[in-house]
Amino acid sequence: MGKLKFFFFPMMAQGHMIPTLDMAKLFSSHGVDATIITTPLNAPHFTRSIQRTHHSSISVLTIKFPAAEAGLPEGCESIDQISSPDMIPSFFRATDMLQDPLERLLQDSRPHCLVADMFFPWATHVAAKFDIPRLVFHGTSFFAMCALQTLRLYKPQRTVSSDDEHFVLPNLPHKIMLTRLQLPENDRHGTETDWTRFLRKAEEAELSSYGIVVNSFYELEPDYADHYRNVLGRKAWHIGPVSLFNREVEDKAHRGKESAIEELECLKWLDSKKPNSVIYVCFGSTTDFTVSQLYEIAMGLEASGQQFIWVVRKGKNEDEENDEKWLPEGFEERIKDKGLIIRGWAPQVLILDHESIGGFVTHCGWNSILEGVCAGVPMVTWPVFAEQFYNEKLVTEILRIGIGVGARQWQMRVGSDCIKREAIAAAVKRVMEAGEEAEGVRSRARALKDMAKKAVEEGGSSYADLKTLIQELSS
Ligand code: UDP
Repeated sequence: MGKLKFFFFPMMAQGHMIPTLDMAKLFSSHGVDATIITTPLNAPHFTRSIQRTHHSSISVLTIKFPAAEAGLPEGCESIDQISSPDMIPSFFRATDMLQDPLERLLQDSRPHCLVADMFFPWATHVAAKFDIPRLVFHGTSFFAMCALQTLRLYKPQRTVSSDDEHFVLPNLPHKIMLTRLQLPENDRHGTETDWTRFLRKAEEAELSSYGIVVNSFYELEPDYADHYRNVLGRKAWHIGPVSLFNREVEDKAHRGKESAIEELECLKWLDSKKPNSVIYVCFGSTTDFTVSQLYEIAMGLEASGQQFIWVVRKGKNEDEENDEKWLPEGFEERIKDKGLIIRGWAPQVLILDHESIGGFVTHCGWNSILEGVCAGVPMVTWPVFAEQFYNEKLVTEILRIGIGVGARQWQMRVGSDCIKREAIAAAVKRVMEAGEEAEGVRSRARALKDMAKKAVEEGGSSYADLKTLIQELSS
């Protein structure tokens, strides 16, 4: 067989496209020709980076995103552009319409393998039509996949009578407790919903696929990597953390969207601070906070007395964005030597990897957690939705490299269960200030950083799994 040709088809969401580009680079560094399939407005995220890094064995193919046909505003091609939960079904309707164009691309190009997002269950069937193996990419941890599967199998949320009573997720390697409040609203009673029906379809597609590629490394969650394979019977390869593939400043600074701060300005600010003296606060690409919650974060950061970088996503509501009601009176003036507010997109990996960063307040998106692990920084966990409450458990209870801020409720828009400034300040201080607890958390985080680096180096666990996968597909 000549050079292996892989197609990568990520969900149109930053948290899926960013690691997919890293995966494409990783596979191409192992001699694979990688093609990323995406929609026209998302293509520049990939092409800019590919051109800058002269990756000649990575290309991009686009297929039209049928926004208008699905009832979405023209130009809405990515999850982070969804401004209200009512738009989500339309977004999924539009993604379902990508099936035929994908089929035509496969027919024309006949790659050797299709790595498609779990959000496209139909991709297994499309690949099978051309006798091409399909790999699934979830973009999350082994732990979260195991927890979700356990919930689906045993429905332990049915055993409690109120939303804030704890129940155990049965049959997992550790005793993990959750409340119904930490589950999506339509999953709180273990009944059949559109979402559970979708998950079942995704599971069937996964079981009949060639297997799953996981952006994680064995040493991070060995019990769950084993559980997923041996108890749940899935065929999986761990190949991460894929973000470690970005070694140059330029690569770290330009991931996802265009940054709202010049990289030199950002580095100059970081360089002016002492090692481990700044907490980085960022909630990923889709989290939506109300004005009152943003206000509490500002007050909490100020009350913590710590230096910080705070990334504030521009408000989805124009008025909120324009009149900046979320900023307490005189806040910026008061914090000007201590804090940096980035309005919009931040060069996250560049920031996390800087020696002045001593902690990370995170929404527990899996990419962010892995990037925090790779930087060796302890975390303040503040899960909001998706599978983030599971990831929090991994960080705070199993790895013990983070401290929870006290988020109790899964919600699409943070606000109704506002986290107060006192809780924010207290969690930030617990992670940043000297003391036995902070030292323990910090030293465990540092040890994991070294393990992550080793995993992707020649001879490491992720390197070996990637090699095995490529060899298996070559033969
Ligand atoms: N990210 C970034 N700058 C930002 C916000 C996010 O570079 O201002 C990146 C972050 O480094 C990560 C991804 O966007 O790679 C977010 O993925 P994650 O799984 O953490 O969260 P999601 O956005 O999917 O909720």
